[in-house]
Amino acid sequence: EPSSVGDGTDAGLAAKPMTGTEIKVNVSIPAAAERAAATGADGVGLLRIEHMILSTSKTPERYVEDHGERAYVDEIVDGVRTVAEAFYPRPVRVRTLDAPTDEFRQLDGGENEPAEHNPMLGYRGIRRSLDRPETFRLELDAIARLYDLGYDNVEVMLPLVNDAEDVLQARQLLEAAGIDPDKRTWGVMVETPASALGIEQLCETGIDFASFGTNDLTQYTLAVDRNNEAVAGRFDELHPAVLELIGRTIETCREHDVATSICGQAGSKPEMVRYLVNEGVTSISANVDAVRDVQQEVKRVEQRLLLESVRES
Ligand code: PEP
Ligand code: MG
Repeated sequence: EPSSVGDGTDAGLAAKPMTGTEIKVNVSIPAAAERAAATGADGVGLLRIEHMILSTSKTPERYVEDHGERAYVDEIVDGVRTVAEAFYPRPVRVRTLDAPTDEFRQLDGGENEPAEHNPMLGYRGIRRSLDRPETFRLELDAIARLYDLGYDNVEVMLPLVNDAEDVLQARQLLEAAGIDPDKRTWGVMVETPASALGIEQLCETGIDFASFGTNDLTQYTLAVDRNNEAVAGRFDELHPAVLELIGRTIETCREHDVATSICGQAGSKPEMVRYLVNEGVTSISANVDAVRDVQQEVKRVEQRLLLESVRES
């Protein structure tokens, strides 16, 4: 059981022991890094690589065509380094490319994207990366270079995995790029019911963490398109089915000593924060504007849990 939940002062969160829930922050673009770091968050729970590419108005493939592989790698190194530097030595979780083809379609080179009826069920995240290992490799080269530069606070997060097969294939590509999965911190997002139900097998691939992408986990569990106004009222991250998947996943991960986290929008919601802390989540990543409220909510829940455990004993 937790031995302490901090000293009760505002500095308590930073100083608290390992057993407390860590509160991290999502960073949208590298330019937002300084402000995010100033929140005092324990690290970055989500840094999306695609924003560094989408901001050039080109698809990854067109960017490489026009400027070359080296420039593509540099673009990612520069973006990630800005954030890794601002947070050092606090950890920064870098998520490999994950944009649906309808987002890429609007860019220069978008005409080459596959036509899809359901981009959200299609060619995105780890699926695209495993299908285009030559492009994925450049992201991994960028991360390997950051390690060479001494940014050992960088972590690798794989989006939209379904099963151990996805993760093991990606793991091989990490190794081929010179990233040792046994030495570096890496993990997956839990965004599909398949990944939540198969979490035991995912844990056995050697991952260090699993992070709930509740935007997608909700979309796929409830079959509610996250971008469809007509069903927006049905998009509920706190739906019992979603919470059940999350709760079971945390339990299995705890048995396997795999850290758990949330980096979807729901990590900024007090009800979700209460649920996750009660279930024993390792960390919560919130939007920059919500960090302070989440820190306070976590402290409240932890103090209540501590009080309950003291009264029971
Ligand atoms: C999520 O699905 O909750 C998530 C954080 O990823 P994205 O919103 O980029 O799909
Ligand atoms: Mg997602």
